[in-house]
Amino acid sequence: MDTRMLIGADLEVGTEAEENVVNPKTGETILMLPEASIDQIDRAVNAAEKAFQKWSRTTPAERSGYLLKIADRIETEADEFAKLEALNCGKPINAVRNDEIPAIVDCYRFFAGAVRCMQGSIAGEYMAGHTSMIRRDPIGVVGSIAPWNYPLMMMAWKLAPAIGGGNTVVFKPSEQTPLTALKLAAIFADILPEGVVNVVLGRGATVGNSLINHPKIDMVSITGDVATGKKVLQAAAKSVKRTHLELGGKAPVIVFDDADLDAVVNGLRAFGYYNAGQDCTAACRIYAGPKIYDKLVADLSSVVSDIAFARPDDSENEIGPLISERQRDRVASFVARAAEQKHIEITTGGKIHNGNGFFYQPTVIAGALQSDEIVRREVFGPVVSVTRFSDTDQAVAWANDSDYGLASSVWTKDISRAMQTASRLRYGCTWINTHFMLVNEMPHGGLKQSGYGKDMSHYALEDYTAARHIMIAHG
Ligand code: NAD
Repeated sequence: MDTRMLIGADLEVGTEAEENVVNPKTGETILMLPEASIDQIDRAVNAAEKAFQKWSRTTPAERSGYLLKIADRIETEADEFAKLEALNCGKPINAVRNDEIPAIVDCYRFFAGAVRCMQGSIAGEYMAGHTSMIRRDPIGVVGSIAPWNYPLMMMAWKLAPAIGGGNTVVFKPSEQTPLTALKLAAIFADILPEGVVNVVLGRGATVGNSLINHPKIDMVSITGDVATGKKVLQAAAKSVKRTHLELGGKAPVIVFDDADLDAVVNGLRAFGYYNAGQDCTAACRIYAGPKIYDKLVADLSSVVSDIAFARPDDSENEIGPLISERQRDRVASFVARAAEQKHIEITTGGKIHNGNGFFYQPTVIAGALQSDEIVRREVFGPVVSVTRFSDTDQAVAWANDSDYGLASSVWTKDISRAMQTASRLRYGCTWINTHFMLVNEMPHGGLKQSGYGKDMSHYALEDYTAARHIMIAHG
C-alpha cells in the first residue's frame, strides 16, 4: 500500500505524529500514517509555486493530454482503487466500482475536453483606437482540501478543473480517508511534471490550517463542514485569497399529492440512504402533501427496513457504515433527541446496529415539524424525516427556510407546478421527479451556507481561472 505523500518530484513519508486510519466496517486500524511537517508543507507549496511558471504556460491541449492519462490510469487500476476506497470508507465495493470510479474517470475526461473548448466574449473596439480582448488565466497555487465521504471523487472534482485551468495544487485528503489519494499520488509522480500536484497528509487543525494560512497559496478550495468553511474565510481574509467552498446540505424534497408514489418511495430509498446518507445532497428532508403523506410514510418505512447493510457477503450490501464511531454516535444522538418529541414517530430503524463497525440502521422519522432539529440540521447519516405540508406556498417556504442551499427536488406529475416550484427554490440544484443525479457537464454547488463556487462543468473552469482584460492602443 502506498503510504508516501508527493512533494515536488519526491514521494516521502510524513515526519510528524501518526494518525490512525480505521476500517469503519470493523473498527480496526488499517495502518498508522504520519502527518506532514511544516517543512514538508512549505516544500510542497514551493514546488507548486515553481511548477506554476511552466505549467501555466502549457497549452490546453497539453494539459488535456495529462488529464486523459490520469483518467486512463484510474480506469486501468480501477479494481485496486475500488478495493482501497471500499476498505477505507466501508462502502460496498460494487458501489465504488460501478458508480464512483466511472464518474471519476469521466470527470478527468470531461475536463480534458472542456479546457480545450473554453468560451469568452468577443474582442473588439470599445474605445476608439483601442482593441480589447478577454483572457482567462489560471489563479496560481491552489490549496485543495477534501472530505471523507467520496475521497477519490472529491479529489477529481478539485484537481481536474484546477490543473486543467493551468493552476498547480497542494492537495490534502481527509485524515480519515487518505488511501486512494496516496495511490493516486504515486501515479502523479509517474506521469505529471514535477510539482503540478502535491499531496500532503494530516488533520484539519494542523496541516489544513497551515495550508489555508500559507502566504504563497493563492486560492483555497475546500469541501467540508460549514464551520470549516468559515475558518477558511477567516484565514483567507488575511491575504485576500480566492475561496471555493462546497459546504453542507439539507436537501428538501417536496412531494405533491399527485406524485407517482412508487417512484417517490423508490427514489427516496435510493437517494436518501446512498453512502449511508453521508452525502451533502442526500434526500433527507421530505415535505409530503396532505393526501399522500400517510401512504408515503407507510411505504417508505416498509422499503427502508429492507435496505441491506452489514451483511458478511459484501455483494448483498446496499450501504456501508458511518465513517467513524464519532459520526455514528452523532447520528444516534440526533435520532435520540428527535425521538424525545411527542409528535415524532420513528417508523423504522432508530438504533445503532448491534455488531462490529460503525453501522446505523436506516431510519425514517415521521411527524417531524419545521422547527425540529432533525429538520433543520445536517445529520449526514441514513436518516430521513417526513413533514406534512398543507399547500404549495407552505412547502416552498419551509423548503427555503434553511441555512443550507445545495440541492432540492420536486415530485409531481404536473409539469407547470413542477416548474413554478423549482423557480421559487433557493438551491444550487432542483431535480424534478428524481434526485441526486449528477453529470460532469452540469454544475454542482450551493447557495447560502452551503457555500459558493461550482464543481464540475465549465463553471468550475471559470472558478479556477480569472478573467483578464487586455487592451491594445493602435490609434
Ligand atoms: P470537515 O469540514 O470536518 O473536513 C473536511 C476537510 O477539511 C478535511 O480534509 C479536514 O481535515 C479539513 N479541515 C478541517 N478543519 C480544518 C481547518 N481548521 N483548516 C483547514 N482544513 C480543515 O468535513 P468532513 O467531516 O470531512 O465532511 C463532511 C462535511 O462535508 C459535511 O458537512 C458535508 O455536507 C460536507 N460535504 C459537502 C459537499 C458539497 O459538495 N457541498 C460534498 C461532500 C461533503
